[in-house]
Amino acid sequence: MISKALTIAGSDSGGGAGIQADLKTFQELSVYGMSALTAVTAQNTLGVQGVYPLTLEAIIQQLDSIGLDLKPDAVKTGMLFNSDIIRIVAEKIQQYSWRNLVVDPVMVAKGGSTLLQQEAVQSLINHLLPLALVTTPNIPEAEMITNRSITTIDDRKEAAKLIHAMGSNYVVLKGGHDTSTTAVVDLLYDGHEFIFMESQRVQTRHTHGTGCTYSAAVTAELAKGKTVPEATHIAKAFIQAAIEDELGIGAGHGPTNHFA
Ligand code: PLP
Repeated sequence: MISKALTIAGSDSGGGAGIQADLKTFQELSVYGMSALTAVTAQNTLGVQGVYPLTLEAIIQQLDSIGLDLKPDAVKTGMLFNSDIIRIVAEKIQQYSWRNLVVDPVMVAKGGSTLLQQEAVQSLINHLLPLALVTTPNIPEAEMITNRSITTIDDRKEAAKLIHAMGSNYVVLKGGHDTSTTAVVDLLYDGHEFIFMESQRVQTRHTHGTGCTYSAAVTAELAKGKTVPEATHIAKAFIQAAIEDELGIGAGHGPTNHFA
């Protein structure tokens, strides 16, 4: 039987991030992909030109359609946009007892467009993090969630501990936004120990959708029955290859290579 994964996220018309990145990654990792859209964005490699959240009714109906028939082995959330959407997504995840939840706390696109309203960060903390098996913030997202600035490695460890205390069983704090070193250091915390995952920084502007792709790879591997440490190590290798082998699409910040 094929493993099945569900992404609850926004659409990127440019195909580099959001549900498009998630579904391509699921497929590449041999997992059957399903999607529930929360919002549609008009977007290309130059930026985000429009954001259109779907009605709550449309989101609820998609989740019910999936929940009443298809049983995802793992689920990820991406762009959720506002607190009402977060609340109903959390409700449906509980109603259908969906396990192996990966929360990618998407907040702002690289070009600066808001993908999660400021006031919704607290809803994410209250409703979604307690359900998460894994949460995958980058440094700015971890700063928003913990409400403190992160500069040192000790700050990162402290932030991971705080996010773990909010209810996420595992925290993967991604280090890509710290450009002060030639290595990218991601931190995996399970409530007991810290595992550091290091890779060589690639000098490229084609990193659109890296966060979505990374968390989708973790989700796909969890769907196949891998443990969280196994899934994150596989995802780290997958995203590194996807960044190294650039596609050269578009005139702006191009997408990572989902074929990698
Ligand atoms: N658009 C959508 C719909 C997304 O879900 C995401 C994910 O983070 C982004 C854009 C952000 O892409 P970028 O990697 O350019 O920040």
